Amino acid sequence: MQKKKFKTESQKLLDMMINSIYTHKEIFLRELISNASDAIDKLYYRSLTDDSVKLKREDYKITIEADKDGRNLIISDNGCGMTKDELENNLGTIAKSGSFDFKKENSDKTDVDIIGQFGVGFYSAFMVSDKITVVSKAYGSDEAWKWESEGVDGYTIEPCEKEEAGTTITMHLKEDTEDEKYSDYLDEYTIRRLVKKYSDYIRYPIKMDVETEKLKEGTKDEYEKVIETETLNSMIPLWKKNQSEVTDEEYANFYRDKFYDYEAPAKVITQKSEGLSTFEALLFIPEHAPFDYYTKNFEKGLELYSSGVLITEKCKELLPDYFGFVRGIVDSADLTLNISRETLQHDRQLKVIAKAIEKKIRTELAKMLEEDREKYEKFWAAFGLQLKYGLYEGYGANKENLKDLVLFTSSKDKKLATLKEYVSRAKEDQKSIYYACAETVDKALMLPQVEAVISKGYEVLCLTDDVDEFAFKMMHDYDGKEFKNVCTDKLDIATEEENKELKEENENSKEMLNFMKESIGDKVFAVRFTNTLGDHPVSLSSEGEVSVEMEKVLSKMPASEGMSPKAQTVMEINKSHPIAAKLKELYETDKDKLAKYSKILYAQARLINGLALDNPSELSSLVCDLMI
Ligand code: ADP
Repeated sequence: MQKKKFKTESQKLLDMMINSIYTHKEIFLRELISNASDAIDKLYYRSLTDDSVKLKREDYKITIEADKDGRNLIISDNGCGMTKDELENNLGTIAKSGSFDFKKENSDKTDVDIIGQFGVGFYSAFMVSDKITVVSKAYGSDEAWKWESEGVDGYTIEPCEKEEAGTTITMHLKEDTEDEKYSDYLDEYTIRRLVKKYSDYIRYPIKMDVETEKLKEGTKDEYEKVIETETLNSMIPLWKKNQSEVTDEEYANFYRDKFYDYEAPAKVITQKSEGLSTFEALLFIPEHAPFDYYTKNFEKGLELYSSGVLITEKCKELLPDYFGFVRGIVDSADLTLNISRETLQHDRQLKVIAKAIEKKIRTELAKMLEEDREKYEKFWAAFGLQLKYGLYEGYGANKENLKDLVLFTSSKDKKLATLKEYVSRAKEDQKSIYYACAETVDKALMLPQVEAVISKGYEVLCLTDDVDEFAFKMMHDYDGKEFKNVCTDKLDIATEEENKELKEENENSKEMLNFMKESIGDKVFAVRFTNTLGDHPVSLSSEGEVSVEMEKVLSKMPASEGMSPKAQTVMEINKSHPIAAKLKELYETDKDKLAKYSKILYAQARLINGLALDNPSELSSLVCDLMI
């Protein structure tokens, strides 16, 4: 009979499968069982609306048979089956999942990666077989067809006999080699183990005839061998089981297979609800953020089922953005199957479920924070940024949900602290939560204002992510204590007396300070004396809503194009530093020099606050003038 050729793409994939060095070849069984289950699903759903389908729910089954003598592993189902055209189109071409496109784009990746990440369906059977025969009869048709292939050469297709509708796949296993014992796949124990591992939650029974020894009837000690048909899978989806019945390994395997992660999840959360809404949820918090997590390409969402039947693979309505990293499954009997993506958005029931899930995730995270700090800090390293965005993006609406889940590094011990911890350690009369922004914690701690605040016995939170200060602004306060940027906000750490003195000093030196501001130009809004710099001579601060740090962040945003709001920068000079007296002296004796000093001080202040110099060579000339 004439052999037909595979389409080029399929041929390449096949070649890859046949010569695969992939170490988990065993996944072929999972792939074939899933296909069988999908085929049964198709027929079963047809039966719901089509009276001509006579099978009942309990008639459906998948069977596995190990023909040791013939070295064949046989998998059958009584699902929808395939017509001749379908056999050719489905098995002769690779049309699906985009796994091959992925391979092309990532030609540096090995086959191991694609097989591991995507599974490759039917063709994976060629990793273990040297010949595959598929006999199939489409439901309702009276012809059956036999498709057969020994690999890349092509395939044949011819009419054949088959009684029941459905598909039977016969794999002739490859010869054993030193590294691979393909005949293991005929071993009852191996098959049992693989079904449990990968296909336990398949909704239809996976049956196999097994040989057992039984006491012969009418005897006390005579045994005989009998063949019994056993169902190998428990059929209950993992999410329908109680957490106590499932091992960590089972959850981890399920998660890895389903969500294409290499690692086990950091946390498994299960939820059963029977109040306002009835649903089960099985949720996972990944150990690390996926590589595209903080990009536009990432799509959040949970798999949504209605009584065990998939409605959509990514229901984004079920998760708030700030918990977008959570993966998992929600199954509810309250949702109708024919719900569409459009109506999902407005579904009241779905909103109730989403709310319950949000609360559950929050409670579990709070528990982790309380009971396993190390684990929580690892979680925080992966997804903390997302929670802080959540505070910011909700314009404060998510404050109550997130305020006790966020961590910031404290000046106290350079360790992460919750806001609750900060407040519990605050001085009795402390009215504010002090923070400082910089690129790193060390840089924040070096800021003159920070040193000054710490020296007065206060703790300062070091904010190092762009979003941090925006999140604080949205929150406004925690537990009645207002957030205060030690560099820009009016602090209440000086005594009334000290503040009065400062006010007088600024008043008396008004003209000089103004002269200094004019010498620097429009880059500063004002020059002022201050009493919050400790031993340091100078620093930058700002007035109004936008701080120096915020200006930096806003100007980096793609849409800003120079139009982003600017901070009203104030140069602050330590009123008690010897430089203050020198400046006053120069104002009387040498204004030219005072102008130059003003520029030098401004440049220094920029450096201290982590800003680039507008004109570095001017600074160099000014300093050299002083040296010669
Ligand atoms: P996938 O399952 O990802 O679509 P496969 O290569 O595993 O890719 O299968 C290709 C197609 O062949 C399936 O989409 C399905 O239409 C058909 N198919 C495979 N196995 C069966 C089966 N046991 N019964 C009916 N159709 C099947």
